[in-house]
Amino acid sequence: MEITITKTTAPRPKPEDPRKLGFGTVFTDHMFVMDYDGDQGWHDARIIPLEDLQLHPGAAVFHYGAEVFEGLKAYRTAGGSVQLFRPADNMQRMRDSAERIQLPDFDAEFMLKAMLKLVEIDQDWVPAVDGASLYVRPFEICTDVDLGLHTITHAKMVIILSPVGSYLGGGLRPVNIMIEDTDVRAVRGGTGYAKCGGNYAAANRAAAKAEKLGYEQVLWLDGVNRRYIEEVGGMNVMFKIGGKVVTPKLTGSVLPGITRRSCIQLLRDKGVEVEERLISVDELMDALAAGQVEEAWGCGTAAVISPIGSFAYQDKHYVVNNREIGPLAQDLYDTLTGIQWGKSDDPYGWIVKVPKN
Ligand SMILES: *Cc1c(COP(=O)(O)O)cnc(C)c1O
Repeated sequence: MEITITKTTAPRPKPEDPRKLGFGTVFTDHMFVMDYDGDQGWHDARIIPLEDLQLHPGAAVFHYGAEVFEGLKAYRTAGGSVQLFRPADNMQRMRDSAERIQLPDFDAEFMLKAMLKLVEIDQDWVPAVDGASLYVRPFEICTDVDLGLHTITHAKMVIILSPVGSYLGGGLRPVNIMIEDTDVRAVRGGTGYAKCGGNYAAANRAAAKAEKLGYEQVLWLDGVNRRYIEEVGGMNVMFKIGGKVVTPKLTGSVLPGITRRSCIQLLRDKGVEVEERLISVDELMDALAAGQVEEAWGCGTAAVISPIGSFAYQDKHYVVNNREIGPLAQDLYDTLTGIQWGKSDDPYGWIVKVPKN
């Protein structure tokens, strides 16, 4: 399929100080759009000036939440080139997410090509400031105008781009975590492993509670027993306990993070033992009480590595590593960002270069 390209005649000014960029509030000049219907399949792939989407108010996405998305970043290297980190993994995960929601499948290679073209066209929007990058947000929605519940026959695929500062306002800063014991984010058999908007809607109430109580993130327990640790907000979670790294295994209700996958590989190649298994909140509390939790961190594209400074669970409260950044979290952060920003070699072939325009 050809991608038709219409460039804007009114380019907007780039952000003056990329250091002051927040997360996801400024957008570039162009977007990618493509439509699906049962007769034609995917068609009309186009890169056009950024504009509002026009949808009928009866479109099913507004009513029944049929939406999946991805998130990855384009980084500017010291030499001025632009590159993406493991983008094929994001496209494959988006296919898996779409399958769960029964949104139409798509050609991951074609979507990767479309994404590269869009970033190529808007590459001047990739900030050249340490820690800042261009966030790439592909998403797929159901556009059937139908309040009945039927198999999806119309959909739209969109990619938008947003220059972002460093997440959480700069560098590594340990965060305080509330372990949620009432609301759950996902259950096995549900949509936890899919990157879909509905999971985030389900998380809102606990996130609001945490914010009100002064915590930065929620740690989720499993939906059946409210006992096994799953994730921290929109990140996967890892603990260094007794010299080993332990992280929740992918049971179906945990999002299979690409940063998680990369961390596991980097750790094992550094000779650190990593266990992917069930970790109960009681095990964590006991290890915290015994002073055995050397480090804890969240990992995801947005923040890369987010060290955890403390955990609160019911009436218990524990500080980790004196609220300081641990050496392993720092090492992972340096290695990952080194590869992403092209400061170090890419021995794993994780980088995809964007052509210069
Ligand atoms: C996106 C996401 C992650 C992190 O995945 P990455 O591929 O590392 O960015 C973790 N948990 C949830 C719920 C997510 O949506």
